[in-house]
Amino acid sequence: MSIFTAIIAREIPADIVFESDSIIAFRDIAPRAPIHLLVVPKTDAYANVTELASADPALLAEMVSVAQDLAREHADGEFRLIFNTGANAGQSVFHVHAHVLAGGLTEGSLGGE
Ligand code: AMP
Repeated sequence: MSIFTAIIAREIPADIVFESDSIIAFRDIAPRAPIHLLVVPKTDAYANVTELASADPALLAEMVSVAQDLAREHADGEFRLIFNTGANAGQSVFHVHAHVLAGGLTEGSLGGE
């Protein structure tokens, strides 16, 4: 079971900002931007965005739509959407999720430290 499955099951706490039948979103525990949210499908069937895109593109589109709504609600509506894909790209949780970064991002940055 992934840590995100435990959050969805309310077995560990999280600061949840959105929930539907298929998607949950909560604040990242280690924020790298003024607004840093994670948008996560409730299903744990997909480890990363390429698996999700092949199997259920409608669910991927729903994640993007939720990201847009959250960026409007929590910032000015503009946002950076990141899907780390693979350990060498920084992925640490293998339950597909989108990082939504917003709120005064460094201009031109791709989000490096
Ligand atoms: P990634 O490294 O792309 O797999 O992203 C995993 C993200 O999950 C990291 O940014 C972590 O800070 C975040 N994270 C890990 N555990 C928790 C948690 N319990 N609540 C909220 N975010 C978490």
